Amino acid sequence: MPIDRFDAAILGAGVSGLASAYFLARSGLRVCLLDDYPMPGGNHISRDFSGFTFDIGSIFFYPGNPQFKMFPGSDADFVPVDLTLGRITPQGHIRSYPLSIKDEILKQPWRFLRFALSLGRQKFLGGPGTNAESYAIYYLGAYLYRESGLRNYLLRFYGIDPQTISLHFVERRMNLTRLTSLRRAAQDLVKRMRRNPAAAVKPHAIARPVGGFSNHYKKVAEQLHSLGVEIRCAAGLKAVCKTPAGLQIDTACGTLFAKRVINTLPLQMVFGLLGSTQAVELSSTKLCTLCCSFAGDRGFKTVVLYNFHDKGAWKRLTMHSDYYGKHAGREFFDVEVTLGDKRPKAESLFEDFAAHTNQLGLFRGDLRLEGSMDLDFAYPVCDLKAEERRLRLIDLLAQSGIETIGRQGLFDYIPHSAIAIEAARERYGRDVPWVPYSGPPNGR
Ligand SMILES: Cc1cc2nc3c(=O)[nH]c(=O)nc-3n(C[C@H](O)[C@H](O)[C@H](O)COP(=O)(O)OP(=O)(O)OC[C@H]3O[C@@H](n4cnc5c(N)ncnc54)[C@H](O)[C@@H]3O)c2cc1C
Repeated sequence: MPIDRFDAAILGAGVSGLASAYFLARSGLRVCLLDDYPMPGGNHISRDFSGFTFDIGSIFFYPGNPQFKMFPGSDADFVPVDLTLGRITPQGHIRSYPLSIKDEILKQPWRFLRFALSLGRQKFLGGPGTNAESYAIYYLGAYLYRESGLRNYLLRFYGIDPQTISLHFVERRMNLTRLTSLRRAAQDLVKRMRRNPAAAVKPHAIARPVGGFSNHYKKVAEQLHSLGVEIRCAAGLKAVCKTPAGLQIDTACGTLFAKRVINTLPLQMVFGLLGSTQAVELSSTKLCTLCCSFAGDRGFKTVVLYNFHDKGAWKRLTMHSDYYGKHAGREFFDVEVTLGDKRPKAESLFEDFAAHTNQLGLFRGDLRLEGSMDLDFAYPVCDLKAEERRLRLIDLLAQSGIETIGRQGLFDYIPHSAIAIEAARERYGRDVPWVPYSGPPNGR
């Protein structure tokens, strides 16, 4: 079996691993990228069922995503999407996501009064508290928090009571300050009034190419290869250990040595590779993606629909056929369901989805389950102890000579690939010429 030596070995060829490899290679290092998955791209995974192409989770990028700057031309086959986001309220109405102050509050004076009283009471009583629920109530007031269905959604997303989700996490990820800012509402209004209706409508977002993610990440891998990066997928990672010759990585295809090892795998997996008995007391929600097709009247218009209702286990659906076109005369879409410790069968999750949407008057017609995909480690559960625990584990990894980065490697809810890339650049690409990502248009 061959023995190779590298300046840096990166565990995991997801977006964080690919970006780290790019920056380190551009800094002149000899890099090897290793993954057990059969192809690069991490959890950007597409699969075909009955001629329809589905994905795990969502698949949107914004023009200006740094991935396209690193790998020029790799966005050529992406498809423009006018990304409209809807939400089923606890009352069963379809409103905009994540909140619609106009529809839910301003249209009815008595509702506005209750909202204002509840918000005023909260501001008078004190600060944002210590958890997701107290934070949301502080910024929205108890009335809007309950009426909007945000509590139902938080519960569905994390599978734990919002009172046990850490404030540290929600402050970084929920950003309700922005959502409920009166100044921002006024700025948006002025922008809308000034907008020229005759001006061309620009797409809000782009979605992965028609055939799925695999061709896109093949192109990315080719460009990394031309920078000298060696990529070994389906590597069969077995063990990592510190030796006098450097860090040794054993895989099913041979052993290699590296001066540095950068981890992007889930923390449970990297401690396993180290042969450590360290208990990783962090949990992630699992995700089941139901791959569905439909013919009939779906009963709503938005591309994405979130479930803020108090019934139905499903969390979010994404209508692929709105931008890829119908297949065999049928619409098709992904439905995400987050799972707790139990792993119910996809068929029973689908039955629950079909019954719930039918009760709300949606998907009236021929609805079918075409297939399903499961993912462990979908979302980190940021409970009140998670921050302290993850920092301790990152420190232990550093003592073993392993750097760690990314959504899985830092146990951090990175919602979007652009953020993962900027974090990799901060760490490994400070000397590489770069214009930072300015965020998606319209503040999305
Ligand atoms: C449901 C969902 C929807 C998303 N929607 C979008 C979106 O619309 N647009 C967008 O830009 N980003 C989206 N993201 C986020 C995006 O996938 C991440 O921000 C980005 O891919 C982070 O990459 P990463 O390399 O840090 O981690 P990942 O790609 O998650 O993982 C890194 C590596 O860890 C290993 N690994 C991870 N999970 C497992 C597992 N379960 N089993 C075995 N090995 C594993 C693999 O080797 C993988 O290559 C979504 C993520 C999820 C989970």
